[in-house]
Amino acid sequence: MVLKIYNTMTRKKEAFKPIKKDVVTFYSCGQTVYDDLHIGNARAYSNWDVVTRYLRWKKFNVLHVQNFTDVGHLTDDADTGEDKIEKRAKERKINPWELVDTQIRKYYKDADELNIARANIMPRATSVIPEMIELIEKLFKKGYAYKSGGNVYFNTAKFKNYGKIAMLKLDKNKSKARVAEDKNKKNYFDFALWLSAKKGKKMHVMNWDSPWGRGYPGWHLECSVMAMKFLGDTIDLHAGGIDHIPVHHTNEIAQSEAATGKKFVKTWLHGAFITIKGEKMSKSKGNFYTARELIDKWGASVVRYALVNTHYRKTVDFTEELLENAKNNMDKISNVLELLNNKKDYGKTELDEEEKNIKKLFAEAMNDDFNTSQALLAVHDFIKSVNKNINELSKKSALQAKGLILELLGVLGLNPENKTITDKTEKVMNLIIKVREELRKEKNYKLSDKVRDDLKREGIILNDDSEKTTWSLE
Ligand code: AMP
Ligand code: ZN
Repeated sequence: MVLKIYNTMTRKKEAFKPIKKDVVTFYSCGQTVYDDLHIGNARAYSNWDVVTRYLRWKKFNVLHVQNFTDVGHLTDDADTGEDKIEKRAKERKINPWELVDTQIRKYYKDADELNIARANIMPRATSVIPEMIELIEKLFKKGYAYKSGGNVYFNTAKFKNYGKIAMLKLDKNKSKARVAEDKNKKNYFDFALWLSAKKGKKMHVMNWDSPWGRGYPGWHLECSVMAMKFLGDTIDLHAGGIDHIPVHHTNEIAQSEAATGKKFVKTWLHGAFITIKGEKMSKSKGNFYTARELIDKWGASVVRYALVNTHYRKTVDFTEELLENAKNNMDKISNVLELLNNKKDYGKTELDEEEKNIKKLFAEAMNDDFNTSQALLAVHDFIKSVNKNINELSKKSALQAKGLILELLGVLGLNPENKTITDKTEKVMNLIIKVREELRKEKNYKLSDKVRDDLKREGIILNDDSEKTTWSLE
């Protein structure tokens, strides 16, 4: 069975064959560490984790690199905005180095709980500044770079297939309009490789010496350098969100291929967005969920289930029902695992044929461009059939079925046996609510109100409804 992956470059599903026999090289664009992981970011990283896990399940040796962008990602893709990290650090009145350090720790905490395996190498953009300078020098030598207004730009007019992946129409009129807007650029699509640290009298806090003066790298350059440094000039797989197609990945291709003269990436994967009521998530609109708040409310395994339950190229409109549905499914899984675990040894039925069949169905789904939702359906069909025949199963086959369910869910990063603190929190909260009900029945309002007030101080809100009391986090 061949694995087929949808390649954005060709807009086709293609049979996957790694360049080298013994290793699959995979780069995924990582987080810009100026804010907490939101549910959209978490979806992206869960997707790429599933890609790695599935390839490893198929016995490929995967070398996965996922970076942290800790400098140079501007608020505006056209190089006119502010550095997202410096902007946020200023707002919080802290040093940008402190901000990125805090956010990287938070990333690991959230991603670890969501069972997003750490990539083999997770470089920070600021760890490869000398290599970035080298790449720009190469581009100068080959005639693709120019200095203007203190910055260094890539000359897109010199690169033959610029914009191919995004099917960009290189419109000359638009191009003229843009040049008027940014006098430093020669062409509309040109982009910054290196930015001057001088901003009037002030300096960009993160800055390095370079042949073009003190400055800092452009975001696109960073990913090219980290991908090529750790994985080679041509890599098998490169992933990111669909928002990366027209600018970030378009520019990564241009500068990498201009520098090396070789094809940069064989297969491009792009993940669709999570929207809220059909709109893009954004903090200003208030339609925004961090991974942390959902983990705290629902438990990490439920959130992870909700994230991988949809195929990575399909937009997900986020609702609480999505998580309710994930919770029901995780409960079903936990129930069958418990039954299998406690199975008494009186059945005779063995599972060998069924095991072969479910593995085949699971692989067929995943081989179709990592169709995780289809793969989960196959696992649930198996669970249904196990539930139906549980009395007839021998102890050995019950444990075999349990192992099989855990193995397949593990490929999707789901670990139902890993109970999080949040699951326990839920139980404890239900207990507190019951005790409070007793107190209120006894008209001991003083103590029941004290419990409510003390919890509020800890950021836990009790909502007393006429029917029942529920709890939420502040
Ligand atoms: P950023 O930190 O903004 O560079 O984004 C990190 C990753 O999350 C990128 O791969 C984005 O494409 C992805 N991403 C950002 N917003 C969303 C969203 N709403 N849904 C899915 N993925 C997203
Ligand atoms: Zn990138």
